[in-house]
Amino acid sequence: AADLDRAESLIRSIPDFPQPGVTFRDIMPLLADARALRDCVRAMIAPFEGTFDVVAGVEARGFLLAGAAAMLADVGLIPLRKAGKLPKPAAAESYDLEYGTATIEATEEVRPGLRVLLMDDVLATGGTLAAADRLVRALGGEVVGTTALMELTALGGRAHVPEAHVLFRV
Ligand code: 5GP
Repeated sequence: AADLDRAESLIRSIPDFPQPGVTFRDIMPLLADARALRDCVRAMIAPFEGTFDVVAGVEARGFLLAGAAAMLADVGLIPLRKAGKLPKPAAAESYDLEYGTATIEATEEVRPGLRVLLMDDVLATGGTLAAADRLVRALGGEVVGTTALMELTALGGRAHVPEAHVLFRV
């Protein structure tokens, strides 16, 4: 659709960040544009309308999209945080990054039977969203879907989150 083409044109490519040879996809121009932000968040949640009780966003850029989505969908918001930030984590999951490893944590607000839509900005290796899925399910939550703005297809992350709904692919 034209509105999503317009939004995609607002994603900026930064060569050689964070390492030489890596092209970073910078979503800040998209977030800064009211129409693009609204169009993207709407399109990210549209396939899941009415099926989720909360949106869970992964720190840090996932928080921004999840916050906007929660307000649009009139549901609650659950931040999945990097390890060590939550005073009272209820569960943790570790995963491999493109470079190194990481752990994310959730609070007890992820309750048994809660229907959760997972959200992040970029699906790269898929490790983050796969860990988020395990984290929610470890607390008894039901993951009804996974959505990201952009998939970096060369990294093969879809193998870890085969059902992920993404707006853009590079
Ligand atoms: P994955 O676990 O899928 O390899 O990595 C996904 C995480 O890394 C996401 O939370 C995402 O924010 C971040 N990430 C990796 N590459 C990029 C990129 O090119 N642009 C942005 N905005 N985030 C990236």
